[in-house]
Amino acid sequence: MALSEHCPSCGSCGFPMREPADFAGGLPGATFCSTCGDDAGRLRPFEEVLQANAEYLVRQQGLDLGAARQMARALLTAMPAWKADSPGTGR
Ligand SMILES: [Zn+2]
Repeated sequence: MALSEHCPSCGSCGFPMREPADFAGGLPGATFCSTCGDDAGRLRPFEEVLQANAEYLVRQQGLDLGAARQMARALLTAMPAWKADSPGTGR
C-alpha cells in the first residue's frame, strides 16, 4: 500500500478523498468530502455534518446514535474547519 500522505483529506472530518465521488459535489479539489460539503463544495452547517458523521459511525461501527454523536463531535471539533469557530458546540 502506498502512503496516503498525498491523498487529500476532508478539512472537516479528515475522511480521505480518493475518487471524485468522495469530494463534495463530485468536484476533485474540493476542500470537503461529500458528507461534509454541499453540491457546490461548500461546508454544510455543523449540525448537519455532525449528524451525517454520526450516522456513518453507526453504520460502520455499530455504535448507538448517542455515542456516535459524541465521537463525531470530538472528531470534528479537532479539525481545522471547526477548530477556530464551532458554533453551537460549546467547548
Ligand atoms: Zn468530511
